Amino acid sequence: CGIVGYVGDRSAQGVVIDGLRRLEYRGYDSAGIALIADGRSGARGDQQGKLAVDKRAGKLANLEKAIADTPLPASTTGIGHTRWATHGGPTDGNAHPHVGRTGRVAVVHNGIIENFAELRASLEADGHEFASQTDTEVAAHLLEREVVGGADLTIAMQKVCSVLEGAFTFVAIDAEDPSRVVAARRNSPLVVGLGEGESFLGSDVAAFIEHTREALELDQDQVVTITREGATVTNFDGTPAEGRRFHVDWDLAA
Ligand code: GLU
Repeated sequence: CGIVGYVGDRSAQGVVIDGLRRLEYRGYDSAGIALIADGRSGARGDQQGKLAVDKRAGKLANLEKAIADTPLPASTTGIGHTRWATHGGPTDGNAHPHVGRTGRVAVVHNGIIENFAELRASLEADGHEFASQTDTEVAAHLLEREVVGGADLTIAMQKVCSVLEGAFTFVAIDAEDPSRVVAARRNSPLVVGLGEGESFLGSDVAAFIEHTREALELDQDQVVTITREGATVTNFDGTPAEGRRFHVDWDLAA
């Protein structure tokens, strides 16, 4: 229901959790976070270039307590999600992010993948095992299969979105490429925030306006790659596209 992505110099955990709190008004039943460990610290998953994921049913406070009890690794690249369940009940396991077979790619999703059952059946026939009842998890497996096959995450997102039906916003990270966070949308909201040496993704600008008011809106059926330097937009077929820049000039309620 709410989506946040970040790459920059700050703690991704702080930016992502703050962003999720700003999106709480949308309503949700679970919350989760995935970070790419930068190798500096943390009680778990602290190997450089590995994903650390925590996700909990219930309020954001449940997730915050879990990561206070067992700190996540230091990281400057991360994604987060608040879920409003459509496929699979509101459990820890069905909460997002979801990861692929080797745990290299993590993805969060708003919306519904209409053709997930066929995709899941064909992945299972190929030996993929699924950890959740969600429609979303097929996207994690498909994205990871592409990057393991040699595609960068941007190309992987273009290819995977082209075979999905339904409405979706995705935000994904590849543990082996902490320089980028990749997102896509079809009939579901997504905005980009452009800071100095840092970039943001959100299901709405509330996710990042405490950090930057320079924003970029996408069209439907587009993929955006954010890095510390800014954002690059393409269509699902890979052709270059332009986002629409805008300045957020309203204030958040206290
Ligand atoms: N369909 C997905 C699920 O049930 C995403 C729901 C949402 O938009 O939060 O997990």
